[in-house]
Amino acid sequence: MKTLIRGGRIVDPAQDLDKKANLLIEDGKIVCVTGEDVPADRVIDAAGKMVTPGFIDIHMHEDPFEDGELRQDISKSMLLMGVTTAIGGNCGENYGDPRPYLDYIDAHGNCTNLGLFVGHGWVREACGGTDKYAQVDDETIDRMEAMAKDCLDKGCMGVSFGVKYIPGTRMEEMTRLSALCAPSGRLVTSHVRNDVSRVFAAVKEMDDLAKATGCRVQISHIGSMGGYGQMKQLLQDVEGYKADGTDILCDCYPYTAFSTTIGATTYDPENFAEYDADYSAILMSTGKYAGQRCTKEIYDWERANAPDDITVGFLMTEEDVDRALRHPLVVLGSDGLRNGAQGHPRAAGAFPRFIAEYIRTGKVGLMEGIAKMTCRSAERLRLPKKGNLKPGSDADVVIFDYEHIRDTATFEEPALVPEGIAYVLLGGEIAAKDGEVVNAHLGKAVRYEE
Ligand SMILES: [Zn+2]
Repeated sequence: MKTLIRGGRIVDPAQDLDKKANLLIEDGKIVCVTGEDVPADRVIDAAGKMVTPGFIDIHMHEDPFEDGELRQDISKSMLLMGVTTAIGGNCGENYGDPRPYLDYIDAHGNCTNLGLFVGHGWVREACGGTDKYAQVDDETIDRMEAMAKDCLDKGCMGVSFGVKYIPGTRMEEMTRLSALCAPSGRLVTSHVRNDVSRVFAAVKEMDDLAKATGCRVQISHIGSMGGYGQMKQLLQDVEGYKADGTDILCDCYPYTAFSTTIGATTYDPENFAEYDADYSAILMSTGKYAGQRCTKEIYDWERANAPDDITVGFLMTEEDVDRALRHPLVVLGSDGLRNGAQGHPRAAGAFPRFIAEYIRTGKVGLMEGIAKMTCRSAERLRLPKKGNLKPGSDADVVIFDYEHIRDTATFEEPALVPEGIAYVLLGGEIAAKDGEVVNAHLGKAVRYEE
């Protein structure tokens, strides 16, 4: 089966390629970029469109199961915004055991290819560390290490931490789990221990971890960690760690509001005070007060009665988020997190929004911007056949109208489908066309290959 994507503007940062040409695909793989009108079984007209590698989302949160079936909710939004490979299990959190989750994707497919980090928080709780504020004993760490190792052996991409969410986390837990990742080059990601004024020490802790274990580290959603006036200094710190030999990179989503549950430590009174903001900065996305801004009364009631309700916190500055997204050590990650159709619009809009508001406006160069969405994340994850259009790579491709692509998802309606994406191909097959899912089962489980 040969497919020819004809007449598009092919942009592939991995090959420093930007030219009008045809893209030939055969049996799920890229054959070549060519000026020839090669005969094919299927021709997709890409005239007037941009053709890039499918987007790689290095930071999202996987869909839950319901009655034994995977709810393809976030994964559908991911596909419709051009993401072909998504990595869940971030911030220390897994929906459930990542091992059977990947097996399920093998058996049933998914809207996108999906890889998972094994989350420290999930492992900790599964091994009996149920109190997030309390330290765990040495025997528990032994069990955690064994469980995390098995998850990595079964294909997880690395270990994620959500230290902010689990203040009881000891350095010992972090080094033991990170040391498992170092020999194979797997990534260690973290929603670091603190934000705002305490973010500098929290990112340094990750540098300490890298230096102690030799692991490669990723600072998760740096915009929501140091986006309150700290970004300039914070990025200088990251540059310093990099210059000093640490393999460090960050991800960021293109919004000035974050999203987490109302019961998270983010909203513990002493932490919330750090933002120096009013309760009205918090929008309730789910539950009894969905759609309302918090008051002291709503905040207290929610924290006591419905800690899992999702919130959006309008707290970061645009200047800092822009500064992060323009920086060469930062890639795009959606941090997509939603409950059904409720939550933060980033799960449905982050990638088109980045093109519309950063690349098209010239804040970030075209080649650099597309690299942040494709090959740079793929290299970070050590997925050589993803995020590029080189011969032999997986034929995951997005075809979009560069002049008109835009996100439409809002805080009121966070699942709205972006405009301007004509086709999304997975393994050479059409997965989405003109904003509709055509095939929700082309995605495969992505396992780390040593
Ligand atoms: Zn996080």
